[in-house]
Amino acid sequence: MPLAPKQALAPGDALLIVDVQPDFCPGGALPISGGDAVIPVLNEWLAAARALGVPVYASRDWHPRGHMSFTERGGPWPPHCIQDTQGAEFHPALKLPPDAIVVTKGVRFDQDQNSAFDQTGLAVELKRAGVRRLWVGGLAEDVCVLASVLDARKAGFATHLIPEGARPVTAEGSVKARSAMRAAGALLE
Ligand SMILES: [Zn+2]
Repeated sequence: MPLAPKQALAPGDALLIVDVQPDFCPGGALPISGGDAVIPVLNEWLAAARALGVPVYASRDWHPRGHMSFTERGGPWPPHCIQDTQGAEFHPALKLPPDAIVVTKGVRFDQDQNSAFDQTGLAVELKRAGVRRLWVGGLAEDVCVLASVLDARKAGFATHLIPEGARPVTAEGSVKARSAMRAAGALLE
């Protein structure tokens, strides 16, 4: 039974929505199978967060043209989430509150940033805001969600994956990602 967001969320919590962008959804430049299926699930969490005053952080992949993570430069990914393109916007069906805090990553020319914590200062910002526990969902479960969950644990946050609110690039990737998250002390319910 998935947790009901209104019962799960408490003071000291924050919601971290990772990279829910059209390029990672069906029809996008780097589509994840069923990627858009996370949106109705995360919208319920967003509604509960808003009702309970729980802060919302939303990361976005935001690459310069010709980024080093793209195949044209020998990287693993087709070009995706190029700055100021439609595919890089937050998905229009995702109901982010107007006061959601945007975390931008992937802007470095010389390296990729899978984690929302990687050189963004997010851990410091969350601590400043009094956040102790994070609920994480988004795309892709076995890449940027995984990296963000592991970094959240390293930074000392109690961390939950929202399993129904995440989708992997591959099913095998999901199995490995979930076992790595559990090993790091994250909770998967
Ligand atoms: Zn990327």
